[in-house]
Amino acid sequence: MTALPDDARGLSDDEAGVLQLLLRADFPGAVQLRAQAVHLLAARGCTCPCGSIDLFVTDPAAPRALTVGCTPVEASFDAGQVGPCSVVLFVRDGLLDRLEVVYYDDPLAMPSPEQIASISVRRA
Ligand SMILES: [Zn+2]
Repeated sequence: MTALPDDARGLSDDEAGVLQLLLRADFPGAVQLRAQAVHLLAARGCTCPCGSIDLFVTDPAAPRALTVGCTPVEASFDAGQVGPCSVVLFVRDGLLDRLEVVYYDDPLAMPSPEQIASISVRRA
């Protein structure tokens, strides 16, 4: 696996909750990604103040996922005045890689699971 950065930490409740919602969806590779999520650390994934995080699967024996593309699933949430935004899951080399908060104006924090409005899965 990639070397862990110095600021690697466990996921916050919101991060873990949003990831759980994303992985609850049914898509190719979801079973393996769910298994990886049991052994997971996070680190700040961006230089701006947004809530994007890099993910590090700490179990070297974790099963790799064969997903459709590197962004198999995303969640949309209502960010209030700025309208709908999304959290996109990135997978690299079959491993959980990144949760990216996509925003259009001011950087947004990771939403809470309660803010998630819908989950969409990438189809081949
Ligand atoms: Zn950012």
